[in-house]
Parts: sequence; C-alpha cells; structure tokens
Amino acid sequence: MSRTEALFRDEPYLKSAEAAVLGINDRGGIILDRTVFYATSGGQPGDTGVLTRADGTAVTIAATVTGHTKDEIIHVPAAGAALPEPGERVLLEIDWERRHRLMRMHTACHLLSAICPFPITGASVGEDDSRIDFDLPETGFTKESVTENLMELVDADHPVFTRWISEADLAANPGLVKSKNVRPPSGAGRIRLVCIGEDASIDSQPCGGTHVARTGEIGAIHIGKIEKKGRENRRFRIRFGPLPAG
Ligand SMILES: [Zn+2]
Repeated sequence: MSRTEALFRDEPYLKSAEAAVLGINDRGGIILDRTVFYATSGGQPGDTGVLTRADGTAVTIAATVTGHTKDEIIHVPAAGAALPEPGERVLLEIDWERRHRLMRMHTACHLLSAICPFPITGASVGEDDSRIDFDLPETGFTKESVTENLMELVDADHPVFTRWISEADLAANPGLVKSKNVRPPSGAGRIRLVCIGEDASIDSQPCGGTHVARTGEIGAIHIGKIEKKGRENRRFRIRFGPLPAG
C-alpha cells in the first residue's frame, strides 16, 4: 500500500484537509494520500473524526491506527459506514477538542520526564489522565512537589519545537533516549527530536507524536497519584486541573 503523507507531523494544529482515497484494505480500513489523522503510536491514541465523501455523505472515523509499518496510516470507519471509492476526493476533519487535550497531555508527559530523569518503562496518554512508569526503586517525590515543578515549567511558557537529527547523532548521544523498551525508529536515516525550551534547555527526546507549541498552552495540571508498581517501578498519573486540596 502506498505511503500516506502525515500532515500532522509538521502541522499539529491542522484540523482539516482534503485528500484522495488510495484504497480500502482487506479489513475495511481507508488509506489516503495524505491525512490530518494521527495514528495510535508511542502511547498517544489515534484521532477520531469525520471523513466527508464527494457526494456529501459523512463517514465517522472511529479510530486511526498504523498498518504493517508505522508509515501506513489506516482510518477505521464506524461499523456500517458506506466506504468511499479509490480515487474519490474526500474532506477530513479531526475531533479537534479531543486532539488538543491529547496534545496538551502528551506535552505534559515530556515535562514530567524532564522533572523525573529516570528510564521510562511504559507510558500512555489519555484525554483526562496520562501515566508514565519509571524504573525508580525509591522516590523522594511527592504529588505536591512534582505538581509544583510541572506548573513552574507550564507557567514559564517555554517553546516546544521539533528538530531532525541523523541516526549517527543519536548514536553519539544515547542519553536522549529515555524509554527502556521503545527504541526510536531506525533505518529511516533521520530521527525527529521534540525539544522544549530555548535551545532545548528543558528537554529533547525522539518522539513522533503531536505536541502544543508552548508549554503555557498545557494549562493547569497536577499529579493525581504516584503508585508503586513492583519493586522497581513507580507509576505517575497526570491529570488536568489544579491539585485538589487535601
Ligand atoms: Zn512526544
């Protein structure tokens, strides 16, 4: 199947776009020449939204996933939808409110990984609640102290930007990779770094997700819980809103 141009990679604020249908896969998934729909990857859920056919019929997109490779983006229609034909021009619109919450949460996860510089063993971004698991046997961290550190970074309104580096650059700087289990994609020749702060002073790490442009856009967040997950793991949960009193 042909490769889909991932418009969200350089333009995470793009809410809609026109595209052409390349084909329908054997499971009824829609493949397009370009898309604004982010496909589930790296702990960030894929987008939902609407695809409007040439005749005006709306097809609900219930999920977006990757195919055999990460370059294959598959738009999963809601059950019973009348599928578009290959070659058809369609209009794409993502559920922007949901995506923007995910972008805010995802960026907050980067801030947490900068505050807690320990190897990450798992992460999941959600609309209301996100979690990061750290390889961290003992912690002096409290919900209150980490929330305070997070909000300092949010309130400082640091810029968030991407930069491409070569695989050789990444190999020379292994400290950039914070995940123990997920290796950045290799073989493509270049790696996308997500940087926070002037000159990436706060953080930089390989990531293919969508992020807000400035940390201030994240708004109020707090650590809801720090849970013990086995002898060497701590799970931090990030939630929207200020830390509840008491
Ligand atoms: Zn990211």
